[in-house]
Amino acid sequence: MIFNFYESQGILIDAGPPSYYKNVMNLLNQSGIKLIIITHGHYDHYGSLSRALKEVKWKGKVLAHEQDIDFIKKGQNAPVKKVSQLPKLTAKFYMKGLTPLKNISAVKKDMSLYDDYGIEAEIIHTPGHTDGSISVVFKDKAYIGDLLRGSFIRSNKPSYPWAYQDLEKIKASIQKLSSFLDEDAVLYPGHGKPFKMKDATALL
Ligand SMILES: [Zn+2]
Ligand SMILES: [Zn+2]
Repeated sequence: MIFNFYESQGILIDAGPPSYYKNVMNLLNQSGIKLIIITHGHYDHYGSLSRALKEVKWKGKVLAHEQDIDFIKKGQNAPVKKVSQLPKLTAKFYMKGLTPLKNISAVKKDMSLYDDYGIEAEIIHTPGHTDGSISVVFKDKAYIGDLLRGSFIRSNKPSYPWAYQDLEKIKASIQKLSSFLDEDAVLYPGHGKPFKMKDATALL
């Protein structure tokens, strides 16, 4: 399993599991990040942050959706109804050292980042993988967390995630994303390689 996290226009999107804290510290020290967005409440997306933020002097906001935020504050995982075997095995190993992340603010509805941060992007609610999953949508790309999973071998070959709460909601969220983006916009998943909006809608 490979855990993606991304930096774009001063936003850190996701942060990997607990063992990634040094990589995240380096980013926070060097690259002028003014905002951290956690796409959803799973250990492999927020796990590094409590330690990294303790060790660097970074004073920005961390955002997560209100439906996943309590799990993050307790150092837990947001629930998923269906889980296949592979993520269960990797979680056992990579969840080690997971601690609560207390200092975060809730995203309550879809919001633009322009007024507060001067960034032309929006946070939109894209539930399905978890109830509180969000995506960060720019003009020609989006960071989608685990809404879909990229292939590890080929670009432009997404699949539904290994684990999810509600497949119908995932499909509705893909539809919603496609109303913001044109078909050649690039989607960056939490795992695997990026793909295009049209590759995602082709799954529906
Ligand atoms: Zn997840
Ligand atoms: Zn994940």
